[in-house]
Amino acid sequence: MPCLVSVAVPVPLLPPLTYRVPEGTAPPPAGGRVRVPLGRRTVIGCVVPDAGDGVEAASAARRDDEVRDLIESLDDEPYLPLDVVRLALWVADYYVCGAGDAIATALPPLAASSPAGRGGASGFRTERIVRITPAGLTALDAPPAAALARGGRPSGAVPPVSAPASRPRLGPRQRDGLNRLAAAGKEGLPAKDLAAAGVDSTVVARLRQRGLATVDRRRIDRDPFAPGAGALPPEAADPRRPAPVRRLTDGQRAALDILRPLAARNGFDAVLLRGVTGSGKTEVYLRLARDVVAAGRGVLVLVPEIALTPAVAAAFRGAFGPRVAIQHSGLSDGERHDQWHRIRGGAVDVVVGTRSAVFAPLDRLGLVVVDEEHDASYKQDGNPRYHARSVAIVRARAARALVVLGSATPSLESAHHAARGKYHLVTMDERVHRRPLADVRIVDMRKEVAETGPDTVLSGPLREALGGTLDRGEQALILLNRRGFATALLCRSCGLTLECSNCSVSLTLHRAANRVRCHYCNYSARRPNTCAHCAGPYLEAVGIGTERIEEEVAEQFPSARVARLDRDTTRRRGALASLLAGFRDGSVQVLVGTQMIAKGHDFPNVTLVGVVSADVGLGLADFRAAERTFQLLTQVAGRAGRGGRPGVAIVQSFHPEHYAVVHACRQAYAPFFEEEMRYRDHLRYPPVVSMVNAVVRGRSLAAAMEDAGALAALIRRDAGAGIRVLGPAVAPLARLRGQHRAQIFLKGNARPAMRRAVRAALDARPDLRRRVTIDVDPVNLL
Ligand code: ADP
Ligand code: ZN
Repeated sequence: MPCLVSVAVPVPLLPPLTYRVPEGTAPPPAGGRVRVPLGRRTVIGCVVPDAGDGVEAASAARRDDEVRDLIESLDDEPYLPLDVVRLALWVADYYVCGAGDAIATALPPLAASSPAGRGGASGFRTERIVRITPAGLTALDAPPAAALARGGRPSGAVPPVSAPASRPRLGPRQRDGLNRLAAAGKEGLPAKDLAAAGVDSTVVARLRQRGLATVDRRRIDRDPFAPGAGALPPEAADPRRPAPVRRLTDGQRAALDILRPLAARNGFDAVLLRGVTGSGKTEVYLRLARDVVAAGRGVLVLVPEIALTPAVAAAFRGAFGPRVAIQHSGLSDGERHDQWHRIRGGAVDVVVGTRSAVFAPLDRLGLVVVDEEHDASYKQDGNPRYHARSVAIVRARAARALVVLGSATPSLESAHHAARGKYHLVTMDERVHRRPLADVRIVDMRKEVAETGPDTVLSGPLREALGGTLDRGEQALILLNRRGFATALLCRSCGLTLECSNCSVSLTLHRAANRVRCHYCNYSARRPNTCAHCAGPYLEAVGIGTERIEEEVAEQFPSARVARLDRDTTRRRGALASLLAGFRDGSVQVLVGTQMIAKGHDFPNVTLVGVVSADVGLGLADFRAAERTFQLLTQVAGRAGRGGRPGVAIVQSFHPEHYAVVHACRQAYAPFFEEEMRYRDHLRYPPVVSMVNAVVRGRSLAAAMEDAGALAALIRRDAGAGIRVLGPAVAPLARLRGQHRAQIFLKGNARPAMRRAVRAALDARPDLRRRVTIDVDPVNLL
């Protein structure tokens, strides 16, 4: 009976493959890496446990004579911890992707390219450390060679008896080097520091030859917190900065009274922590984490984007010092690799990271925090299309840990679970120090436009408030969730707009750069002078973006110091940190930006938040349009009045009576939730049903529609009752990067059956796999 293993290989969409372990080779452990043949190639894969545990990622059945031998086993012990392997297999099954895709997401950089095991040196950065030997210390006692040389050998004199002949003579540079090493003691000195001090490698080599010094290699961890590494603002990066000890507010204490026993229970629990903006959720996470770490268990903290909201990472770093690891996409591969191995090696109690940190190899997990759990960046917009919040819950359940989902504006999904008792609900309804929430005023732009004309960008009330804010020396945030100068160039002769040649969207004008750009495929061209359709000379810039707002504010308040924060101004490494630092230290008074300014920033001097248009997201063909608008408006209003002075938010809208706008302005979550749930229930949208979206790409729209139709028919055949298959229909974004797009939706409550039907359809038409994107629990429907 040959020994067979299932191996997840790094090829999209493939299930685990079966390989034979050659006779005389010890079977590799699950979670260990193996080198295996695949077609004509050799790849490094990961051994996965055989299906079970309800995981359907069963190895593709193969006839015995087709099974190939694995070439080499790279690890004696699991490289990936078994619980992370199982989590990845769950992802592959639930999100209908390949096991290798999911495993690859969980592996650290270099794991699949470098065969070195966990303890191996490859992939780590090392440095040469020079240490003095006892012989070196003795040599230092000898008279300097220079003195001897100068005096020459005392003629006729016998060498002094007290100077044994064994004491070697030292050149001046060797002596200098030894003196430095003697001062450094047992720790030694990095060779590069010696070289910088003038003791170069030839001197070190000579000392070593003579047995006066030793040289060995030491592993160094690249520290993303190191000054200049850019992970955190400089003031937050200092691990020695003591965390302030504070008295808990009543709200924090009440929340902790519920959370602490749950954390101590060592069983699975899920809690939705709904705390208004500024209620001090971070402090609650911190205290809970302290308990859990003290009890000997690990803590995983997920945050949407570390660069935008460094406060949470900084707070944990302050509290746990070097026992915290940070994982996010801004790190270099080397930094990520080092952090991963620190965690895997048990040197870490707390991991703070973005989406993919949910796979961190943290042992004995006791607490998982998902901060700003409503944030769309938790959903990966590429293969595998997992949602880190869902994965976090699955992981916590398997680890018998507590998971805390925190937000001022919870996702409808989480709030729905809380409403049905599946999650505990803990609320914090007051800000720290009883600071009032911002006073939010709606400006009806229909009236403004009627009074001052269609070009009105900043309404009277917003201009007036901004003037007052600047006069008082306070700061303002101005939000418009659309970058560029104008959203389109419209030809006044033929009425057509300039479109991207690859995508079915209009090109955005970026005036400072004098270019038009596609925000979907990044196509860009010089701003044209004439219409591409009729060659007419009058191109009008319509629709406003952040670049236009920045200009408008600067024009109306010439003495104000204005800056803009969006994807365009933060492309350069370090640009984001310096913009935020400039706003923090007051050198910028008005910060104009996209939703990037609405995230969890805490700027105490901001007393005014202006929203140029509350309506930007409302027109989208997406059932989450109202939810997103509500979240964005509530979050951005929550940036005002976080210091001692009360804040005001002014929201401009052409639909001031829209319920998302109205409830956001009252910062009233519960009534918004009720109204939104009525709509979801009525139209059968998540969270009332679950949904799978399939986008089919084609060279022509007809081809895409035909393939989508065929796929829909296959799914319908297998779907069974209770599952509705809608479509095919032209996708809202009918063309993207040169490809036409059609889509199908599955709606229903039998999730496993829905996945099975999709998988069966793809198995029946393997030729479609490359042209189809399956999105389970889709977040972006375009
Ligand atoms: P949230 O995430 O709920 O919006 P934060 O955690 O950012 O709120 O806290 C808001 C502000 O209140 C921060 O500046 C934080 O340092 C401060 N804060 C939190 N808890 C306390 C406390 N118990 N005493 C004093 N200040 C606090
Ligand atoms: Zn495009």
